[in-house]
Amino acid sequence: MRRVGRVCGRLAPSPTGYAHLGNAWAFLLAWLSVRAQNGRLILRVEDIDPQRSKMKFVDALLEDMRWFGLDWDEGPDVAGPAQPYLQSRRKDHYEEALARLGRAGATYPCFCTRGELRNLASAPHVEDIGVSYPGTCRQLGEAQRAALFGAGRKAAVRLRCFGEEISFTDALRGEERMRLADCGGDFALRRSDGVVSYQLAVTVDDAAMGITEVVRGRDILHSTPRQIVLQRLLGYATPRYAHIPLLLDSEGGRLAKRHQSLTLRGLRQQGVDARRVVGLLSRMAGLNPREKPVNPGDLLPGFALARLPKHDQLVTEDDVRRLVA
Ligand code: GLU
Repeated sequence: MRRVGRVCGRLAPSPTGYAHLGNAWAFLLAWLSVRAQNGRLILRVEDIDPQRSKMKFVDALLEDMRWFGLDWDEGPDVAGPAQPYLQSRRKDHYEEALARLGRAGATYPCFCTRGELRNLASAPHVEDIGVSYPGTCRQLGEAQRAALFGAGRKAAVRLRCFGEEISFTDALRGEERMRLADCGGDFALRRSDGVVSYQLAVTVDDAAMGITEVVRGRDILHSTPRQIVLQRLLGYATPRYAHIPLLLDSEGGRLAKRHQSLTLRGLRQQGVDARRVVGLLSRMAGLNPREKPVNPGDLLPGFALARLPKHDQLVTEDDVRRLVA
């Protein structure tokens, strides 16, 4: 469904550590796309998992993103109609959506205690998709469920999927077509400890906040069909999606938070000019061949998602050395 009106995008950091170059890359491209269309930008903090999220990182993320040169129209420090901006404060929205799905018969309780259930609140990455849920608890009858609840067992909530094939047009990658069975099958919406899953929280928030454009890493590509299925069940519009390539480290792995020297905070503390960081990232995005130090706004003329590189980009030791030199 295509909506008319002003584009609205979001920056959605998880406060589980300091923002690193990989986050800055995704935020920069999301920011450029929205600003190039004269759109609105919302900063939403994805702190749904209480075990992993830390308040000190919320403040640090905002500060470091501003240092890097980004701004937003709404967020924890700029109140507006989409508030609140911390997922930990939006739980009633998620419970309402869960109740609606439950009433429609789209969910079932799951008593499995697999390790996989622990990581549900964080966005899954390429390597986390794993095997599809075999549907063990889907087969349980009402009496079995009642007996398990009666014995004090806690249950997660899963969505009943039907092997649907979901297709969408990615603004960068073109036509995408995936079967839900290849994206984890019946996926969980709430853990047995009550923590809502990333999939549900993001879908509900994107709709409630009026998000029309989602720019995020290709590591989250397999989440998109799950979010689209939820949008259909809940009667939400589907935003335009763009899954951008990843930044890889010199060993070819995803740039991870363990690279302390590659956090925005670390670079800033070493006295690096933010414009040089933007210069490096925009060179990788094909927007600044000579890697000139620039402000994000300097990259706006002619910016289009469709022109970004489609393959992952390597951050070499040399790149890092040049930055901190
Ligand atoms: N909070 C997620 C992350 O940091 C982003 C999720 C999304 O953009 O949908 O990986």
